[in-house]
Amino acid sequence: MELLHPWRLDFPKPSEPELRSAPVVSLILPCFNEQEVLPETTRRLVALLDRLSVEGRAAPGSAIYYVDDGSGDCTWRLIGEYAAAFPTVCGIKLSRNRGHQNALLCGLLTAPGDVLVSLDADLQDDLEAIPRMLDSYRAGNEIVCAVRGRRTTDTFFKRSTAEAYYRLLGMLGVQVQFNHADFRLMSRRAIETLRGYEETHLFLRGLIPQLGYRTAVVEFERASRFAGESKYPLRKMLSLAWQGVTSFTAYPLRLITGVGALVSLGSLALAAWALGIRIFTDDAVPGWASAVIPMYLLGGVQLLSLGIIGEYLAKVYESTKKRPRYHVEAVCGHSIDGSSRDN
Ligand code: UDP
Ligand code: MG
Repeated sequence: MELLHPWRLDFPKPSEPELRSAPVVSLILPCFNEQEVLPETTRRLVALLDRLSVEGRAAPGSAIYYVDDGSGDCTWRLIGEYAAAFPTVCGIKLSRNRGHQNALLCGLLTAPGDVLVSLDADLQDDLEAIPRMLDSYRAGNEIVCAVRGRRTTDTFFKRSTAEAYYRLLGMLGVQVQFNHADFRLMSRRAIETLRGYEETHLFLRGLIPQLGYRTAVVEFERASRFAGESKYPLRKMLSLAWQGVTSFTAYPLRLITGVGALVSLGSLALAAWALGIRIFTDDAVPGWASAVIPMYLLGGVQLLSLGIIGEYLAKVYESTKKRPRYHVEAVCGHSIDGSSRDN
């Protein structure tokens, strides 16, 4: 049997300091029906990469990776045109819409580079934060989270629900960075570690703190969407929020047990009280209300509890199938593997 020596173990190592000063930077942008913003986003990102390379802060090979998440508009055609026009633009097309988190993961696990920066395609994330994130990487951090300073561009509803949600996650013991979405820099080492997580239901901002690597925070002001409409309607947002809770804590299940115990104790006390009245007084037990209301209440609590248990069970069921999280249908541009490939 071959002996495994500790110095031969294959684990991701931190990159050397000289590599950190001018890393190969990959920008990862999931896109779902973003034809209105892509021209401006591409113009600004190509200019940013040029500037970073002139300043000697990004090595040759740095590029933009658009992940087309099954768009129904001209997004993929535009990506193809930009990939043909600019050597720094690449595209990955998913076979259908798999959701922002899966598209993002596909970009992170496919793109090469020493550091990968994920951001939204709609220019809400301030590009000027990227050089600062690179400075932080150079200082030795493996993960740099860009957090929103003030959420002035968000509606009151979005701001208050987001704040309440972060608080709830904190109370449930889920470790997440306050006011941080998915605008983040990750080193190659962090990406390779992330590859080992094979969960079906992704909530990246909850997963990243689990990696445990040295993490820093950079503040930025979030702008309004440059053009087009939000691709995150309330339904998708609630679904992501629910993933955040159920993927990282079993607290709701415990809560059910607690509520169940409390209700049972309460009904025992009620039964004792009713029995006392029957034995020691001549008062009749009050009418149907006391019988019917607890029945409905308990029925509701039971159904809710079953629903929550069912959600967790569904997760286990989905995970056992081990279905791929996405399928890559086509790639374009000076490609992922370094060869020039078109579709
Ligand atoms: N997105 C995606 N797949 C989806 C929904 C959204 O790839 O199913 C992308 C979208 O193109 C954008 C990013 O995820 O680049 C964030 O979406 P959006 O800006 O619409 O969300 P919001 O900022 O309104 O929360
Ligand atoms: Mg947006």
